[in-house]
Amino acid sequence: MPPPMQRPQPFTPGTPLSEHYLVEGLVRLAEGRMFYIANDDRADRPRRFCWECACDDTLRSETTCVSCGADLSPRRFLVAVRWDQAGFRPFADFFERRIDHPAFAAPVDMFFQDNVMCTVTPWNGEGVLVDEASPLSVERSLYIAQRMTGLLAFLHQKGVSLGRLNLAHFLVRTTQDEVEYFLFDPDIQRVQDGPVPEGMRGRELPWLAAMVRRLVPVGANKLRDFFSKGKDGIFPAPFEFGRAIEEMMEAEPLGPHSISAAMSDVGLIRSLNEDNWGWGQLSADVELHVVADGMGGHEAGEVASDMAVEIICREARRRLEQQPQVTPHALENVLEESFRSANNAIKDHSERMGSDMGTTMVATLLMGKQLAYVANVGDSRGYLMREGVLHQVTRDHSLVARMVEQNRITKEDARHHPHSNILLRTVGTERDVDVDIFSVELSAGDRLLLCSDGLWGEVDDEDIEAILNAYEDPRQASRELVRAAHYAGARDNVTVLVITV
Ligand code: CA
Repeated sequence: MPPPMQRPQPFTPGTPLSEHYLVEGLVRLAEGRMFYIANDDRADRPRRFCWECACDDTLRSETTCVSCGADLSPRRFLVAVRWDQAGFRPFADFFERRIDHPAFAAPVDMFFQDNVMCTVTPWNGEGVLVDEASPLSVERSLYIAQRMTGLLAFLHQKGVSLGRLNLAHFLVRTTQDEVEYFLFDPDIQRVQDGPVPEGMRGRELPWLAAMVRRLVPVGANKLRDFFSKGKDGIFPAPFEFGRAIEEMMEAEPLGPHSISAAMSDVGLIRSLNEDNWGWGQLSADVELHVVADGMGGHEAGEVASDMAVEIICREARRRLEQQPQVTPHALENVLEESFRSANNAIKDHSERMGSDMGTTMVATLLMGKQLAYVANVGDSRGYLMREGVLHQVTRDHSLVARMVEQNRITKEDARHHPHSNILLRTVGTERDVDVDIFSVELSAGDRLLLCSDGLWGEVDDEDIEAILNAYEDPRQASRELVRAAHYAGARDNVTVLVITV
C-alpha cells in the first residue's frame, strides 16, 4: 500500500475552483479534510450561472437569470477538500445517487482539482461540530444519535454504507430558536444496487456511538455506558440502536457536580489526531478525567492513546467499586493501579503486534469539591488555576524538563530545543511504569486543566492563564485554548480538558 498522501498545500484566497467557484478562504482543517468558503462570483467569466435552471447566458452586469428570472446575487458554498484517493470512487458513486434526506446536507457539485477531490455544499452560516467543545446536554447528545441513526437506516435502504464517522462530518445550523445537525461530506465505504445486506447494517454504529459518547457530560454515566456498548458493536442495525435510544430518552440522567469541558483537535499540520481524552463519574462523589497523547507510526499512537483512556476509565471504576470505604488513600491507590493496568495492557498489545506504540497520560481523580489527585507519565500536563493564577501541577518526563531542573537550559530554551520531543517515560513502553501522583487540596473556584503538549508547546503559560481568566465557561475556554494553539501554528494535535470545581 502506498503511504497516505500528506495534507496538500491549501488553496489561497482568490483561487478559481472548477467552473463556478472562487475561494474566499480556508475556514477549518480536520482529519483528512480542509474546508473552504467559496462563492460563485467569478470576475473571469463573462456570464453568470443560474443554479435554478442551469442557464449560463446571463451577462455579469445582470442580476437576474435571463431564462427563469431567478436572483443571481453571489452565493456562498462550503467546499470540502479530501486527498485520500481510496475514498474518491465510492464518494463519486454516492454523489451520483443524489441522496436527499432532512438530516443530510447534500452536495450540489463535486470535481477534482490538483489531485484532490472537492465537494460543494450550499453554505448559510453553518459551523462544523468539530469546532464545539464537549459536552452537549444529555438531550442534545441523544437527539444527534437518534437523528443520525434514522439517516443511517435510510442510507442502507439506498445501498449506501458510510466509512468512519467523526465530528468533522457534521454541520451545526443555529437559528434563533433551534440548533440542527446535518451529516455532511461523509466518507463512503460502498454504494451498491439494492439495500445494504442485513449482516452489514451494524458497521457504522460503533463509530457513531463512540462519537456521541464524547459529547455526553461527565455525570451522565448511564448514557456513557450505553454508548460504550454501542461502540463495542452490540447493536446489529440502526433499527435496534434507535429503539434503545428511545428507551434511554425516557431514563433519568445523573446531574454532574463538576462542570467540565473538553476538545481535541488535529491541528494545522498533522493529518491524524493521535490524542484522546475521556471522563466519567466513578461514584456519587468521585470523577475521573484523562488526556492521552499517543505515539508510534501507522495509527499505533491513536490505538495506544485510545486504549489508555478506555482502560483507565474502566479499571478505575471497577477498582473503586471494590473499595469498602472511599478514603483519600484508597483513591490514590485506585488511580495508580488503574494507570498501571493501562500501561501493562498497552505493553502486552504492542509486544503481540510487534510495534513500539506508547502514549503519555495525565489523569485526575476528583473527590467531591475537596481533593484532587493528578497523575501523569510523559509530557501531557495537569495545571491548577487558583485565584487567577496558573500553576503547573505535574512534572514532564522529558529530556528537556530534566535539563531545566538541572539548570542547564531555561524554560524558554526548552520550548524550542531540538530534543524537546524526547520522553523519558511513557505509558506502554516498560512494564510497571512509575507514575507520579500529586494531591491538590481544592478551594472554591479552583479550576484544573489537563492538556497535551500540542497546547503548552504552542501557547505560553501566561497566555493559557489569560484565556482561562477571560473565559469562565469551560466550553468557551476549551475552544479559545484550541484557537490559541491554531494561532501559534498548531504543529501538533491539541487536546484540552477544563474542570471547574
Ligand atoms: Ca503531542
